Amino acid sequence: MNTYKRALQAWGKEPQMLQAIEEMSELIKEILKNINRKKDNVAEIIEETADVEIMLEQLKVCYGIKQQVEDYKTAKLQKINQRLDKWEAGIHE
Ligand SMILES: [Mg+2]
Repeated sequence: MNTYKRALQAWGKEPQMLQAIEEMSELIKEILKNINRKKDNVAEIIEETADVEIMLEQLKVCYGIKQQVEDYKTAKLQKINQRLDKWEAGIHE
């Protein structure tokens, strides 16, 4: 069993989803410190990004939505690419 599933089984879905929220808020705080207070906190941003990614993996296992998220991302990135093509061509809509 992978670590994400083990964590969900050991510690429970709801506590892990609350942990996901906590980790996202920690990343938000570090980004805000970096921008608003011009803080040199790249090390903290690295840590909190990793924490959030680990929790997002657990979230996908928790809700059984790994493939759906992947599919949505593929479609979304296509749309973003199309918008960027227009943007870079000077068509700002
Ligand atoms: Mg953290």
